[in-house]
Amino acid sequence: MKFENVEKRFGDNVVLKDLNFEVAKGDRVTLIGPSGSGKTTILRLVMTLEELSGGYIYVDGEPLTHEVRNGKRVELGEKAQKQIRKRIGMVFQQFNLFPNMSVLENIIEAPVHVLGQSKEQATARAMELLESVGLPDKADAHPLELSGGQQQRVAIARALAMDPEILLLDEVTSALDPEIVGEVLGILRHIADTTDITMLIVTHEMQFARDVSNRVMMFDGGKVVEEATPEVMFTNPQHERTQSFLQAVL
Ligand code: ATP
Repeated sequence: MKFENVEKRFGDNVVLKDLNFEVAKGDRVTLIGPSGSGKTTILRLVMTLEELSGGYIYVDGEPLTHEVRNGKRVELGEKAQKQIRKRIGMVFQQFNLFPNMSVLENIIEAPVHVLGQSKEQATARAMELLESVGLPDKADAHPLELSGGQQQRVAIARALAMDPEILLLDEVTSALDPEIVGEVLGILRHIADTTDITMLIVTHEMQFARDVSNRVMMFDGGKVVEEATPEVMFTNPQHERTQSFLQAVL
């Protein structure tokens, strides 16, 4: 994945400006930085939940929403955007499950309607995934009957059901009680250990960032101020802004 001269504005508020970075296949990149530095916006742009104000995002060399044609920046058609969006999954802080659907229906919705899988095929895979997140007996439950931790595990299973190449994790433990944060992080660590899914992670759990990521990028004011391996970033950050941020959160 590549960000090229990415810009994002909300009205007059320039959140990201001339942002450039690349994420290799299989990378696990954690984005850290103060509140409002644009981390969530980056994930939402990749998920195409926000529109780019300028620049380009490429996935595997293919443009996500805009490309250069005859020297001009043009938006891709809906069909082309949909095609590439299939390859990206996202898990949100607030789970975002469909409340009126059962757990199983939540998980098979996109595989059936977007990937065109048969209901049987999607259900078989959903049951495997529910097993892997420790909830095989909750297929018929409704999201609001589940605890926050259980809902988040379903949301993870739902994202994985699309077999994404890229998984975006947006503060996935922030809404959870401290005692169940560990179980959700354990599942994500297992996914990181057993798949080659590229992960882009926004988290305040620095230990988790340290455990799963191979790169950490520190953002401030919509820019990357420092990038390093977790070992270096958390023990010997170079930039004064990173030092003060980490001092406050660690
Ligand atoms: P946090 O750690 O608090 O989640 P963040 O680094 O993820 O912060 P973003 O959520 O990306 O930051 O927000 C960056 C800036 O963009 C903030 O100033 C925020 O107010 C603004 N912003 C985000 N979404 C919108 C929106 N939908 N409309 C207007 N402004 C927005």
